[in-house]
Amino acid sequence: MEFDSDLYRTAVRQLDAVALGLKLDPDIHERLRVPRRALVVSIPTLMDDGSTRVFIGYRVHHNTTLGPTKGGLRYHPDVNLGEVTALAMLMSWKCALMGLPYGGAKGGVRCNPSAMSPRELERMTRRFTTEIILMIGPDLDIPAPDLGTDEQTMAWIMDTYSMTQGKSVPGVVTGKPLIVGGSAGRRDATGRGIVYALYQAARHLRFDLKGTRAAIQGFGNVGSVVARLLWREGCQVVAVSDAKGGVHNGKGLDIRELAGHVRETGSVAGFRDAEPLTNPELLELDCDLLIPAAVGGQLTEANADRIKARVVAEGANGPTTPEADAILADRKIAVIPDILANAGGVVVSYFEWVQGLQFYFWRESEINTRLQEVITRAFNQVWGLAQRDGTTLRTAALMLGVSRIAEGKRVRGLYP
Ligand code: NAD
Repeated sequence: MEFDSDLYRTAVRQLDAVALGLKLDPDIHERLRVPRRALVVSIPTLMDDGSTRVFIGYRVHHNTTLGPTKGGLRYHPDVNLGEVTALAMLMSWKCALMGLPYGGAKGGVRCNPSAMSPRELERMTRRFTTEIILMIGPDLDIPAPDLGTDEQTMAWIMDTYSMTQGKSVPGVVTGKPLIVGGSAGRRDATGRGIVYALYQAARHLRFDLKGTRAAIQGFGNVGSVVARLLWREGCQVVAVSDAKGGVHNGKGLDIRELAGHVRETGSVAGFRDAEPLTNPELLELDCDLLIPAAVGGQLTEANADRIKARVVAEGANGPTTPEADAILADRKIAVIPDILANAGGVVVSYFEWVQGLQFYFWRESEINTRLQEVITRAFNQVWGLAQRDGTTLRTAALMLGVSRIAEGKRVRGLYP
């Protein structure tokens, strides 16, 4: 099967399990197991030394039942069709769970962005945009930032797309810089959404966030915001890591100083006032909250029985394997699944898209209030269903997301 990958197998296994629980129509189930369309492109790129390198890129639309597709664009050496397809599927469930009028999509380019110059990244991004141009558009498919991409990447995509249309089309991407139609609050949205989900987890599980000890893997767009907001909330952020290593201080790290250190050196590693620690050590640290916010496949059957946190909030997509999920559930560790915990990004992306279509922009405080409402409502629906059926939060979240798309498919019927 062309979509085969570890993450795709995981995503399909999750779908199959909830399909059984939901007694899903087998024909609709079959349609949901594969993406609606997938495009593979080559991206010849002029490098700074005058040579040409050919990168491979993907854009996958999982389903368009509830509206145009939405999903991030990833630049990473491990990007492949199977991974992108699985992530597109997760986006479908996430958008439906949040009540957004979108289907799921994902895209990416197999490259190492940290080893490329800004000019090389710009040329690769513009050529990639041209290659997938038939697949994107404000009412067709709207990319956003993900691992290895940022506001600048979105600005290049918007500019390239706009040039082919002879007019500015801000609605073709979200996560843009503010000056060209980005939304206030978008940069912090994913991290903020995780913290809003943690407020609800703390309320239901009857603990106070203030004073809890948190360990965070990844200090990028998602991890650094969670670290800052939890720190401001009075949590002790005892450990943080990134691709180059981690740091630990049992009394809590000063996140403002740590952010300054990262700005200067490019990594959390080497921060004074802390001991070094590896990524595997961070995951198994004695703490209350664990937030994997870097890459997938971090909590596995090899380490799940040594996780000490009481609550795991998945900032990254797919950080927990199904085997680890079962072990954590047995050990009564609450896992707030990715499609719920990290949905803040797509929710504010939706706000950005709506604001752009209306040419009317909201204040940041309004955006944060609406984001909190959406995350809180979804969390409480998931919590209620999990309690009613005695399932994990992941199963309940998937049941809600999958059942909404299945209902959309049922009423729309099958074309032709
Ligand atoms: P980013 O590129 O801004 O940051 C990634 C961070 O992870 C960096 O600190 C990097 O050094 C670290 N990292 C990379 N590989 C690592 C490894 N093997 N071990 C430890 N750390 C590693 O990316 P981001 O936007 O913060 O995204 C992080 C995760 O969150 C991804 O899984 C992404 O799919 C997910 N996510 C992001 C958003 C968003 O709005 N940015 C929304 C939903 C989900």
